[in-house]
Amino acid sequence: MSGARRFRGPIDLHTHSSVSDGTETPSQLVRAAVAAGLGTVALTDHDSTAGWAEASAAARTAGITLIPGMEFSTRVGFASVHLLAYLFDPSNAGIVAETARVRQARLVRAEQMVERIGVDYALTWDDVLAQTTPDATVGRPHIADALVARGFALTRSEAFAGILHWEAGYYQPHYAPEPLRAISLVRAAGGVPVIAHPATRGVSDVIAEAHLAQLAEAGLFGLELEHRENKPEATARLRSLAAKYGLFVTGSSDYHGEGKPNRLGENTTAPEVLDRIIEQGTGSPPVFG
Ligand code: AMP
Ligand code: ZN
Ligand code: FE
Ligand code: FE
Repeated sequence: MSGARRFRGPIDLHTHSSVSDGTETPSQLVRAAVAAGLGTVALTDHDSTAGWAEASAAARTAGITLIPGMEFSTRVGFASVHLLAYLFDPSNAGIVAETARVRQARLVRAEQMVERIGVDYALTWDDVLAQTTPDATVGRPHIADALVARGFALTRSEAFAGILHWEAGYYQPHYAPEPLRAISLVRAAGGVPVIAHPATRGVSDVIAEAHLAQLAEAGLFGLELEHRENKPEATARLRSLAAKYGLFVTGSSDYHGEGKPNRLGENTTAPEVLDRIIEQGTGSPPVFG
């Protein structure tokens, strides 16, 4: 059956829950997706699949299609490059080991950033812990929430534009695998890898054509070219490279609940592209709720 008939309603393939840095639990997120009129939603928490079971159960109850996914942190030099991964086997040893390593590195890095921020602002690690759920993948958004709670910023976005911006001097990168290695791990686990928001300034600058060709060769499926943070010029350049190297184009919201202005369904993916993802994703089944 063709995608348009199989998937009723818009398809949003990039969202975050409280398992990472979204503000809603996986079930709340699935219900929000239904309320937003989506027919399909992917849960893509950073470096974690811990929300899959809850989201799957919620999708069955709510009658929406759920694509289990993850946003895998990767790194090129000092730049952070995000890799969306869909329908892989969450128990695959390579994925389990690498994501555990990244989550641990994120934790240490967040503690070090808070230590440095604490020299200039009355902020402690306990303040940050108070903003995270147990075992969540910790990131700057949790530090941002702690800064808001302490009155040093009005919103998460304001904290990102100020104290948490790399130019403020408190920023620190964390360990993450190179995109090539992450793509290989995802494919080896039966998953389908897509570079998230590839036309943002930081990302498009570090991925030259030869590098992209190499990633395509290694099994990259597509580029998330419909995303509010992509820059028009880099998007146009990558659109022609996608055609040249046979990469699919996806679109998504990158919803973080109340943590970011991005709204569910503000960008969507074509049903025919989701069909290809489901054909190629052999590590986990979609949940047709
Ligand atoms: P980190 O990965 O720890 O460096 O933090 C960056 C992450 O924060 C990205 O995944 C962003 O999507 C996320 N984020 C969540 N809320 C916001 C916000 N309001 N402004 C900017 N980034 C945000
Ligand atoms: Zn995030
Ligand atoms: Fe991202
Ligand atoms: Fe994201």
